[in-house]
Amino acid sequence: MLQTPIEYIKGIGPARADLLKTELGIHTLGQLVEYYPFRYEDRSKVERIEDLRLEQEGEPVQITGSLTDVEVVGSGRQERLVATLWQGAYSMELVWFQAVKYVRPRISALKQVIVYGRLQHFNGRFSLVHPEIEAYTPETLAQRGLHPVYHTTERMKQRKLDSKALQKIMLAAVPLAIPHITEDLPAELLKADGLLPKAQAIQAIHHPIDAPLAEAARYRLKFAELLRLGLTLAINKAENDKEVPGIRLKKGALVPKFLQEVLPFDLTEAQRRVLREIWGDMHNGHHMNRLLQGDVGSGKTAVAFMAMLMAVESGHQACLMAPTEILAEQHYASLRPWGQKLGLRLEKLTGSVSAKLRKPLHQGLEDGTVHMLVGTHALVEEPVRFQSLALCIIDEQHRFGVSQRARLRAKGPEGYVPHVLIMTATPIPRTLSLTVYGDLDVSIIDELPAGRKKIVTVHRYERDRQKLYDFIRQEIGQGRQCYMVFPLIEESEKLEAKALEEGLEMVKAALPEFETGVVHGRMKWAEREPEMIKFLNNETQILVATTVIEVGINVPNATIMVIENAERFGLSQLHQLRGRVGRGGNQSYCVLLTKDSLTQDGRQRIQAMVTHSDGFVLSELDLQLRGAGDLLGTQQSGQVQLQLSNLATDKEIVEQTHKRAEQMVRQMPYPRDLLKLDWAKALMVHQPYHASFHKVG
Ligand code: ADP
Ligand code: MG
Repeated sequence: MLQTPIEYIKGIGPARADLLKTELGIHTLGQLVEYYPFRYEDRSKVERIEDLRLEQEGEPVQITGSLTDVEVVGSGRQERLVATLWQGAYSMELVWFQAVKYVRPRISALKQVIVYGRLQHFNGRFSLVHPEIEAYTPETLAQRGLHPVYHTTERMKQRKLDSKALQKIMLAAVPLAIPHITEDLPAELLKADGLLPKAQAIQAIHHPIDAPLAEAARYRLKFAELLRLGLTLAINKAENDKEVPGIRLKKGALVPKFLQEVLPFDLTEAQRRVLREIWGDMHNGHHMNRLLQGDVGSGKTAVAFMAMLMAVESGHQACLMAPTEILAEQHYASLRPWGQKLGLRLEKLTGSVSAKLRKPLHQGLEDGTVHMLVGTHALVEEPVRFQSLALCIIDEQHRFGVSQRARLRAKGPEGYVPHVLIMTATPIPRTLSLTVYGDLDVSIIDELPAGRKKIVTVHRYERDRQKLYDFIRQEIGQGRQCYMVFPLIEESEKLEAKALEEGLEMVKAALPEFETGVVHGRMKWAEREPEMIKFLNNETQILVATTVIEVGINVPNATIMVIENAERFGLSQLHQLRGRVGRGGNQSYCVLLTKDSLTQDGRQRIQAMVTHSDGFVLSELDLQLRGAGDLLGTQQSGQVQLQLSNLATDKEIVEQTHKRAEQMVRQMPYPRDLLKLDWAKALMVHQPYHASFHKVG
């Protein structure tokens, strides 16, 4: 029955069926009834004319009364149809400017009517323009409740297949489908979580008796949608845990020695906790697949190094991959001395390592004399062979793709896949990490090392520029350095280079007494590196840059981050950029420079940056402001095509379904067997329709 082609449903026919197919991808009755309204008009309330207030102007109102004095007034373009609606001693006007000839005979026959429209107030009188109007009987009113409103496309509207038409179609279609709906949640769950059965929910989402029922229906359908996602991830994860044997690491002498003799500070409590979680994975025979989130400056590098030591002290090797050469270099520079103090060999492998040096390096990796390797992502791509790679750490990248994982598998010792630790300074709101990274375990460093000074963040307008230069002059005069970041202009790389060029000229002209360097994405590594090194050595005091400096660079003496056109950046990006300062002992500043007038959205983002310094708080706000799609980028949001749920606002359901999915998977000896249950089949085959205009998030 649910497979019935839509053309056979009352009120549809071939022409409309074609529209529904091409515009919404709806082919069958089953798909049709899973095309849900996105809101309701409340048609249960009827107002009295005497109670109407001026404040209601513009709001939709529904009124009953008797119709009198239907007449055409004016002529030509001024022509309009006017009628009076009476309710006892009170009256108001109904007005039509268009289709006068069509409307007039229709309404002239009506006596008692019910009208619905937006309230207007004109010449001291209330009126409705182009209201919906029908004959009124007590039955018509009794049927009135919440009217579903459906999304339709422009083409559908042009051909009179609008929300009202869909409403009518649903009146026929929903009762037809209901008896055939297969339940897609287990009975225990319906009970435990107080959810409506699916058939009832579908009935109620289209035709609710009242608002709470509509809400219960929507909640329940979202629940199923998010449980589907949660189960997919939980099953994958459980299967992965079972199938992929973990390299079992043993305790050795290196970690204690490092803590006592090398590390120049005490670990924070959060660093300790995270290390316990990492160690827990790596020594119990499970394969680690873990995401380490920690705000900029929270000390992920030391954690990474200690995790690498765990691999090395059990006789294996470890590697650390960074997204850019600069970052790889910095990691190499800070970690190599630590390795040396422990008598370990740590090498780097990036695109700029010469062929001559590469050979002995490959040799060392293969025979195990190189213990640790730092490099760029190219590292997994290269034909590098390790003697026994037990751990691969990926810095500053959200997504470690399936294909990269497969390559990594090939680098492990026979029959094993190296443990994977992905580090990111862009905290991801929990609802997102549960849904998008549900197959990863998550560790969080939620504490900064003691004694960090808070970065002072201010918002300044274009007109404050001169004062800003004075401030920069004063700071550099005290020995500090300054970043000036210009936004990326996506449309054209040429424009970007030009904007940066102009920015550079402006800065040089304003602050000629200082040395200025420049880096941007179009520069080759060989051009960029010397600029970076000059800045690192304080040979240049000002670094003009695009967002290429966003990730990871560490110049502790830089204390000012100026972000030009800050309104153009997303919150996460602003926070990342701000994290480039505040890395030394001196007070640091972040100046968000914007044009004088801002959009509401831009203002909110700037305000959020000024108010909050916690990356997790900001990422939650970012999710609220931009939605999941933007936050993840289109590529990743493609994986979470949600029809009803919104990852920004449905946190509670995300958490609950995630918990339920894990419970269910735990109870099964073979997680995949879950999918053989009747309800699960109904849940998982679900492919509602291709709703191209539904935005994620
Ligand atoms: P991120 O998490 O952004 O990668 P880093 O690992 O680069 O942060 O650490 C930032 C700075 O904090 C480094 O200079 C590092 O040496 C220092 N650091 C890390 N952990 C601690 C700690 N527990 N106490 C004091 N300083 C620390
Ligand atoms: Mg880092």
